[in-house]
Parts: sequence; structure tokens; C-alpha cells
Amino acid sequence: MKRVGICAICGSVSNLNTCSLCGRLVCGSCFDHSRNVCKQCSSGIILSEMSSERSGLI
Ligand SMILES: [Zn+2]
Ligand SMILES: [Zn+2]
Repeated sequence: MKRVGICAICGSVSNLNTCSLCGRLVCGSCFDHSRNVCKQCSSGIILSEMSSERSGLI
């Protein structure tokens, strides 16, 4: 099911994907298809993966 609307990240009108983490609707270029999340959450995942090696910081 494709929806056309305004991307929550870059603001362009495009076919939207729903981020499985934050639920925002983002365009294809702002979406990480391999992780099924938006680019912002994708960078967050990468950060959390990196910081998980040194847990205890939080
Ligand atoms: Zn976008
Ligand atoms: Zn997201």
C-alpha cells in the first residue's frame, strides 16, 4: 500500500514509507529500506549499536 504525501524529514511530496520506530511518514530517499526505519532513526540505531559496546554510559 503506497501513500503519497509530504515527507516528515525533507518535506518533499513523494510516495511515503512508514518508519517502524517513530511512525513518521518519510519519502524513499529519507527511508532506510534495509532496516525499515527512517534515516533519522537509522542513524539512531547505528549510534545505539555503537554505544552498546560501552554500556553503562546511560
Ligand atoms: Zn524525505
Ligand atoms: Zn523514524
